[in-house]
Amino acid sequence: MLSKMSPLDGIPFLDLIAPHVELEEDMVAVVRQALRTAGFIGGPMVEDLEREFAKFCEVPYCVGVSSGTDALRFALMAAGVNPGDTVVTVPNTFIATTEAISQVGARPEFVDIVPRTYNLDPAKLREYLETGCEREQRTGKLLSRRTHTPVTAIVPVHLYGQMAEMDPILELAQDYGLMVVEDACQAHGAEYFSTRENRWRKAGSLGRAAAFSFYPGKNLGACGEGGAVTTHDEGIARQVRKLRDHGQAQKYYHDTEGYNGRLDAIQAGMLTVKLRRLSAWNAQRREVAARYNEGFQSLHGVLTIPYEPSWAKSIYHLYVIRVQDRNELRDHLSHAHIGTGIHYPIPLHLQKAYAALGYTEGSFPVSEKAASEILSLPMYPQLGSEAQRQVRAQIGEFVEVTTVRAAPWRSTAVGA
Ligand SMILES: *Cc1c(COP(=O)(O)O)cnc(C)c1O
Repeated sequence: MLSKMSPLDGIPFLDLIAPHVELEEDMVAVVRQALRTAGFIGGPMVEDLEREFAKFCEVPYCVGVSSGTDALRFALMAAGVNPGDTVVTVPNTFIATTEAISQVGARPEFVDIVPRTYNLDPAKLREYLETGCEREQRTGKLLSRRTHTPVTAIVPVHLYGQMAEMDPILELAQDYGLMVVEDACQAHGAEYFSTRENRWRKAGSLGRAAAFSFYPGKNLGACGEGGAVTTHDEGIARQVRKLRDHGQAQKYYHDTEGYNGRLDAIQAGMLTVKLRRLSAWNAQRREVAARYNEGFQSLHGVLTIPYEPSWAKSIYHLYVIRVQDRNELRDHLSHAHIGTGIHYPIPLHLQKAYAALGYTEGSFPVSEKAASEILSLPMYPQLGSEAQRQVRAQIGEFVEVTTVRAAPWRSTAVGA
């Protein structure tokens, strides 16, 4: 059988052209509509997206903003995080999570992850709250022992498209009086089975507020920048609407200072067109993941595939494997013209930007080990099985060669 893809074309890590081919007419119509009505900022296109995306996330309110980073910042502010607070999150996330915390004037503090899911470890969160914090005698406030600042919020990140284990996180938050703001920037449509409620819940519907990014490479991506805050709380929605628009609810009447953080109408229109396809695309991604899993079965022990607990439905924003010789495998795939990524190579607590937080190597061993072994393989809805066979074949070849080099007597132990 002839492959559609010549080996020289290679297999990209991400394909941002294919999804727009079948939608091109509708997307061009969005631009035409904007030009003919001069509807560039706000207006019906933004309102349509907010209504549709709220429905998709199963929440009453959605507020479109200019990026996922602003969505996080506004969500934290509107939820009530104050300057001087400490906000707990994980070290293995994109820096936007902690940038938003710092931009509110708060300080990030980290809790390590579960090795198999790469998400916030509820047991470590409990340990942090029990031993890393103390109650201030006079006020009863929860203080971080490291910084003596009030701990007020938790930001679980639903990394790679799979939700963090929310039941125990929400329970701890309740016990300790903390707010939960979800970083759902990689999780548009991901689901979590809440045992507390005995039903599946959508990402963005569990915290006091949640932040989504519409950066082009996300499962729902704009043709530029965009983001959204979702919430059940009308007051938070109202506050985010003000924050994104210079602190005004009525033009030139400023209750507070705000930001220029609105969502462009053209981007909202593009997103509304693409949102109609999101569930189908997410389902396709799950099929891609299932085919990878199947293909990697015989490499068990050499390569760790993503783990999806029974309580999670991942939307596979990324398909992340773990291997010991990660960098060598990445080079091997790169020579075979197969694109890969590392999300993320350096945990935030070891980034230069956060040297002042005072963490060191060894502070979060699970995140650190993961960072040295994770590799994101090509993943997008249109990724075909033939391309996946090529990825599998190249990884098989690499494993064969490195295994033979390391232990020649084992060369037959790894089947192709
Ligand atoms: C993409 C992303 C963000 C930031 O979104 P932008 O739209 O790029 O500002 C925040 N957190 C996580 C986990 C992300 O993946």
